[in-house]
Amino acid sequence: MDSIFSDRISDVPRSFIREILKVALQPSMISFAGGLPNRAFFPQAELIAATSEVFQRQGRDIFQYSNSEGDLALREMIAARYRRRGLEISTDSILVTSGSQQGLDLLAKILLNEGDGLIIEEPGYLGAIQAFSIFRPRFLPVPVSSEGMDLDCFADTVRNGQPKLIYTVPNFQNPSGITYGEDNRRGIAEILQVGNAYLIEDDPYGELRFRGERQTSFFELAPDNTILLGSFSKVVVPGFRIGWLVAPPHIQEKLIIAKQATDLHTCQFTQNIIGQYLRDNDFDAHIAAIIDAYSKQCQAMLDAIDAHFPAGVQCTRPEGGMFLWAELPDGMNALTLFDAAVERGVVFVPGDPFYIDRSGMNTMRLSFSTLDEATIREGIEKLGGAIDNLSSRRDR
Ligand code: PMP
Repeated sequence: MDSIFSDRISDVPRSFIREILKVALQPSMISFAGGLPNRAFFPQAELIAATSEVFQRQGRDIFQYSNSEGDLALREMIAARYRRRGLEISTDSILVTSGSQQGLDLLAKILLNEGDGLIIEEPGYLGAIQAFSIFRPRFLPVPVSSEGMDLDCFADTVRNGQPKLIYTVPNFQNPSGITYGEDNRRGIAEILQVGNAYLIEDDPYGELRFRGERQTSFFELAPDNTILLGSFSKVVVPGFRIGWLVAPPHIQEKLIIAKQATDLHTCQFTQNIIGQYLRDNDFDAHIAAIIDAYSKQCQAMLDAIDAHFPAGVQCTRPEGGMFLWAELPDGMNALTLFDAAVERGVVFVPGDPFYIDRSGMNTMRLSFSTLDEATIREGIEKLGGAIDNLSSRRDR
């Protein structure tokens, strides 16, 4: 029966996260597993108002086919927002995509032949591993730490691995929550500029900084070699599936062909609603409210970890975003911990699917975006109990 499937789909890892979410749906479960934005910050009333405005302004036209590049007014607003941050990006270089996830798929489609080298962060975003796997690249993992990519390993891999693409999430990375430091970015950009590879700067969380200073974007450091991805999923709503990518003209040209082959264009109804929402509301104030909540939730998680996790557990201390990353003492298996945690009513994502070779067995991702501070404290205390229990069983 399996013979009906293409070779290309057989290599793609399943999303363990989706499987876990089924367990997490039990109402009593405290879930640190989902990578979901907090629904409390979906601007429901504002989006309803924007929708009726779109109907009034556009009438039947809103139901028509549209252009592949995306709604011009929305692309202008995206460019204007970058301009405020000091990034000169022309409207023409922006392609609206069905979520930034589609950006990854389109880039892989136009740039990757089977066996082409692709540098990926380790641990790295599972959705990117899936999107790229379909095109059967030669994955070249480079470890990330709290500073960013391991620069020596990166330089070696660029020199010896002949990468065509480099995939990064430099701000509040999914899954680890780390942010590349300024020196690390400059080091990467320098190495990048001497090669032929393109760097994908996937930045869905960049606006969600709650501590520290904004770091220079790769797009500023190496504009000719960088493809920048953005998304409204984490700052407005994910269900509308509106993201974008910024790429040089010769790449953009091929992307549009691939986009036409894939879905003709991104849903113009939701593009217009987002555009109207941005026009009518104080978007910065909305983002500030999300940041304020996530900051407190992250702090509650870190404080609870300090209080309840054994000293041998190492955690990242994110400056923004939705996740943090924990490394259990060597030899402790996060999958074993997962079963023990479910018994206590807590779920998280074991870290191994974020590694190409499924190593990282002693790591886990904890999301703090959707739970209130009291529930975070309760869940971390329970998880700490499960870790303690496993440690003492190991020591016996
Ligand atoms: N990139 C990263 C790093 C992500 O975490 C996500 C969402 N989990 C995406 C891309 C996809 O986001 P969307 O397609 O909703 O824009």
